Amino acid sequence: MEFKYEELLDRAWKYLPEKLKNPSRFRIPEAISFVEGNQTIIKNFNEIANVFGREPRHLLLFLIKELAAPGNYDGKRAIINRAVRREVINKKIETYAKEYVLCHECGRPDTRFTELEGEKIVKCDACGGWWPLRKIK
Ligand SMILES: [Zn+2]
Repeated sequence: MEFKYEELLDRAWKYLPEKLKNPSRFRIPEAISFVEGNQTIIKNFNEIANVFGREPRHLLLFLIKELAAPGNYDGKRAIINRAVRREVINKKIETYAKEYVLCHECGRPDTRFTELEGEKIVKCDACGGWWPLRKIK
């Protein structure tokens, strides 16, 4: 059986996983937040965590440490006990995405938390790359 070059290319493309064909589909979600008294409410907090494929509580822990203010998660929204501008919240969410979601090697979002020889890591399902899961402190 013989293949022409174009046919080979065609076949190679056909067997590529769908997500590798569309690397730029992912966008970091933007927080819809507002300040109410001394609190900041992030209305779409649950959605943001879902887009990232992360536990809302992990994202919340990151935010309250970064913002140095206590906060809660009510199953849908996050409430931070400090008045914070939306731009600041979005900057923190971007930082979170870069550290914990987007692959440090290929930049794709197809990553998950797992373990390697007892160490917690973030692993990329798209390229196989991984990096140590940085502890929030
Ligand atoms: Zn990757």
